[in-house]
Amino acid sequence: MRNAPLLAAASLALASVISAAPAPTGAAAMGAPPVLFNTAFEGAALGKIEKLGETEFRLHIKGQQDARGRNRQATWYSFRMDDVGGREVTLHLTAFKGEYNDRPARAPAGDWYRPVCSEDGENWQHIPAARWDEAADEFTFTLRPRGNTLWIAHVPPYPHARVSQLLAEVSRSPHARTEVIGQTVLGRELHLVAVTNFARPDAAKKIIWMQARQHAWETGTSFLLEGALRSVLADEPRTAKLRDENVFLFVPMINVDSVVRGEVRFNVNGFDPNRQWDEVDLRDKRWLERNPEIWYVKKAILAQHARQPIAIALNLHNTEMNEYLETMVDAEPQQAMLHRFFELAVTKTSFDPSRPKLTIGLPTNLPPGNTTNILWRDARVPIMLLEQRIGPNRKLNRIATPQDRMDLGRDLIALMAEVVK
Ligand SMILES: [Zn+2]
Repeated sequence: MRNAPLLAAASLALASVISAAPAPTGAAAMGAPPVLFNTAFEGAALGKIEKLGETEFRLHIKGQQDARGRNRQATWYSFRMDDVGGREVTLHLTAFKGEYNDRPARAPAGDWYRPVCSEDGENWQHIPAARWDEAADEFTFTLRPRGNTLWIAHVPPYPHARVSQLLAEVSRSPHARTEVIGQTVLGRELHLVAVTNFARPDAAKKIIWMQARQHAWETGTSFLLEGALRSVLADEPRTAKLRDENVFLFVPMINVDSVVRGEVRFNVNGFDPNRQWDEVDLRDKRWLERNPEIWYVKKAILAQHARQPIAIALNLHNTEMNEYLETMVDAEPQQAMLHRFFELAVTKTSFDPSRPKLTIGLPTNLPPGNTTNILWRDARVPIMLLEQRIGPNRKLNRIATPQDRMDLGRDLIALMAEVVK
């Protein structure tokens, strides 16, 4: 039972949010106002609400389907409850089941699964105890919030507003430049941040690429990328050397519209930003209309690679219980470099792989098509996919916190610089 310490720690932490006082009963409860659900904020999402009692609700996860009405995924919800102070509130979350790659998928939940809650919408902790019922597709927990407002989400949110704040900070650094490389379906800007020593010519440097949030719900990727970006921006001798020797390129958020709108996976036209990378044709404007997030990022990658080759690239994702690195790189010396990256990540960081080695995945041609990793086959970009689990990490002996993920970002970007030397 390796996650027992995790639960104990979470229970202690939750004591600060959850009052030990008994819930009001009788006359006190009768006068209490109704519990209100609020989704009027960035990234909020919730489906149907069934009221089972004054403080008991069945909440349906909204989920999102692709453009063909397939591949419903229900790995995101985020909502606020008001008038809950001192009351015992029981929530049954349901409608998790969906499809993946056109086939029925298991519910993205289990005994290991813990949503997060917050008193202020900024500091999050995992719910300490809950019950998962696989047959009913239902996850149940009871809380007694101390404050009158409580936020609940699938994983700690990382909204687009935080990217905007980060970019504003980055713009004050002499070591970074931010470029708008395109727009989303709804016209939001896609950014590319370059971090290097601009006083030195790029020709002798290595080009290192990292990108996050192709899938809106995967907030862990944003914490990881922020940690990586902040670490190479820091004013320290170690990082000054990294900037002398490398150009770090970051695309902090790809599926911006869906993050803002509280969607799960696809862009707002229903296309998966990590599929069809072989089909998206930069000469074909239909792709620009359907999936501009791929179109512009692919254009930026290929333009960079033509100007000065990308030495290593990392595409960041989250899964429920799997953690791994996967690539289509099938030639030397690049494959040896990526194997070395895997080994160093295992020995030096909190990366806790569920597969024993770097996975060399071949193009699958499964509908709906191929991932960003296809850039190796099509353009010889040595790119890897990193999947990071949202369940317990065995090295950390807990579910990775946002700070753990930022620390991992700091460590991985340094390893990328090490293996490309
Ligand atoms: Zn993903």
